[in-house]
Order: sequence, then C-alpha cells, then structure tokens
Amino acid sequence: MKTLKGKIIVITGASSGIGEAMAREYAAAGAKVVLGARSVEKLQQITAEIQSKGGQAAFAGVDVTCPEECRRLIDTAVSTFGGIDVLICNAGLSMRAAFEEVDLKVLHKLMDVNFWGAVNCCKYALPYIRESKGSIVGISSVAGLHGLPGRTGYSASKYAMTGFLETLRIENLKRGIHVMIACPGFTASNVRFSALTADGSQQGETPRDESKMMTAEEVAHRVERGILKRKRLCLMEIEGRATYFFKKFCPSFVDKMFYFVMSKEPDSPFK
Ligand code: NDP
Repeated sequence: MKTLKGKIIVITGASSGIGEAMAREYAAAGAKVVLGARSVEKLQQITAEIQSKGGQAAFAGVDVTCPEECRRLIDTAVSTFGGIDVLICNAGLSMRAAFEEVDLKVLHKLMDVNFWGAVNCCKYALPYIRESKGSIVGISSVAGLHGLPGRTGYSASKYAMTGFLETLRIENLKRGIHVMIACPGFTASNVRFSALTADGSQQGETPRDESKMMTAEEVAHRVERGILKRKRLCLMEIEGRATYFFKKFCPSFVDKMFYFVMSKEPDSPFK
C-alpha cells in the first residue's frame, strides 16, 4: 500500500482526540472513512465537515462494549463503501487510582471498552479484512509495553489487546493480513479528563501539562506511516522507544523510571 487513497478505513473512538485526527487526516488523503463512537452528534459534525471538503465519510453510533453495535458499525462500512481495508481499534478509556483503592467495576469497565471493544470489532470485520488482505490496527499505549502505576486496569487492558492481536496475526499468517500495535505516549486529548477515578467517577481534569504532549495529529500521521509500511509495532517517540529498548535489557530500571515519573504527578494516587 503506497497511499491511503481509496482505502476503506473503519475507526472506533472517532469522535475525539486521536480517532478524530485519524478520520480527518485519512479522509484528506483520499480514504473513505467510517467513524464509530457513542457521541452521535459529534460524529455527524465531523462527517459533515469531511464531506464539505470533498472527502468521503460515513458514521455509526456505537458503544464498542456491545457486540451487536460493533456489527452495525462494520455493516455500515460494507453497505456504504463495499468492504473494509483497515480497521483501527482506537476507542479507549483510562483510569487513575491505586489498585488497593480502586473499585473493581473500574477495571471491568476498562477491559470492556479497551479489550472487548477491540475484540468485538475484529470479530465482525475480520472476513472483510481477509478479503482485502488489509490491516487491523490496535491503538495500545506505552502502558501496553510496561505497567503504568496508577493505571492497573488500563495497562492490563492494553496488554490483553496485544495478546489478542498478536494471536490473530499468527492465525492469519498465510492469509496476507497485516496486524499492527501502535503505542502512543502522552498525547493531548480528552483521555485524562474522561479517565475514571477510584470510585468510577470521571477525573474531569488532567494532572499533566497537555501543551507539552504530542498532538493527536502527529499520532495519526505516524499510524498512517505504520499502516503503509505494514509495521508490526508502531512506536511514536522517545518514551515509547526507550521503554521498548530498556525493558529488554534492564526492566527494573524501567520500573524505577515509571515510578519516578508517575509519582511526581500532582495528587499521585501512590507515593
Ligand atoms: P479521547 O478521550 O480523546 O478519545 C477516546 C475516544 O474513545 C472517544 O472518541 C470516545 O467517544 C471513544 N470511546 C470511549 N468509550 C467508548 C465506548 N464504550 N464505545 C465507543 N467509543 C468509545 O482519547 P484519545 O484520543 O487519547 O484515545 C484514543 C486511544 O488512544 C485510546 O485507546 C487511548 O487508550 C489511546 N492512547 C491515548 C494516549 C493519550 O495520552 N491520549 C496515550 C496512549 C494511548 P465517545 O465518548 O463519543 O464514545
């Protein structure tokens, strides 16, 4: 694949942040994008803006925790554009709480959205991806490369997604499909505002300086390059590359770095 022009791309979590940036950027590159998320009004608005610029887009309201709704998203892509070349499992939710304090329902919720959401979409999209010999992309995280303190459920859900997608890659080794795991570091978006706290309520604010983070557009661009090059793993910046490299040789050093960095956050849930 040299360009995304003409490719049919389904993106979950396309109402905000990285998903929205991917939808806009890939449509501008000539892809036919299909947007999924729960905020239907936001999807309607993004779709209309893409179309007003001459792009091709469709959307379906979907809660990725519901298999039937994921089936509807996939059906929307197939009935509107005739197939699927790329599925991007991007819908995600974060958390911030120490494990000893967190209500277990928070961890279940994160698994439901981040892990089961990806599984549900892959289940219905796989036959079409096989037909097109296309790509499945999981938007994981640096927290999916090494455990991130205060985010037990988040890291676990991203590790689970990696295990699932790696297995899918091997099962389909002879079928020409491409599976990529993308691991952004801190990226300016809504993710920390919507993150769940110990009791399951939304954090509503960010403990970090969002202006110093990578932009969602930059992440979208790197994911695009990864798709075109059919990469297995898409690391974004120094945090991801250093984590990946040092984990192989001195994982306890990475433990200490993660502890140091995350315990410095204001109101860090662990000290
Ligand atoms: P945002 O909060 O800005 O976007 C999250 C998206 O997921 C929204 O479109 C939201 O839409 C959607 N979503 C959440 N729950 C559901 C659900 N149950 N069903 C369908 N859609 C859902 O965050 P980001 O753009 O930052 O996050 C995108 C991905 O990137 C996530 O998987 C996240 O884990 C990952 N990531 C983000 C990083 C960051 O620092 N920002 C770092 C590393 C990874 P709606 O509410 O309308 O349903």
